[in-house]
Amino acid sequence: MNELLDLYQDIILDHNKRPRNRGRVEEPTHEAEGYNPLCGDLVSLTLEVEDDGSISDIRFDGSGCAISTASASLLTDEIKGRTTAEARRLFDRFRDMLTGDPSAPAEVIDELGKLGALSGVRAYPMRVKCATLVWHTLQAALEKREAPVSTE
Ligand code: ZN
Repeated sequence: MNELLDLYQDIILDHNKRPRNRGRVEEPTHEAEGYNPLCGDLVSLTLEVEDDGSISDIRFDGSGCAISTASASLLTDEIKGRTTAEARRLFDRFRDMLTGDPSAPAEVIDELGKLGALSGVRAYPMRVKCATLVWHTLQAALEKREAPVSTE
């Protein structure tokens, strides 16, 4: 178990130090901004979604703590190439992992792949908002909501 925790820790540190998909998509079809006032995390997401619903490009920018940055990096890595329906399903799974029934996380974490690295955040309710901010922002972008997302 400690080995597993170390591995997860490494993934988070790595994605915080070298965030993937940072910047802006050149001609976004969807975009949204999110803010977590509890921690000061800011994230802006831009996406290019094809007519068939596949997410061909997704990038993030902003500033925040290690958890919010790693979460945004992991999300963009995991979502790119998937469909918007799959992205929504992953969000449900991700939320389950952090705030859902604690008796059933194993198969949920399986489905989440690398995103499972953030499962330890579950023990820190303040940090859950750091980890889910980018997901709420993704949802707002896909729904084309104009108002910025706030976790409060
Ligand atoms: Zn944070």
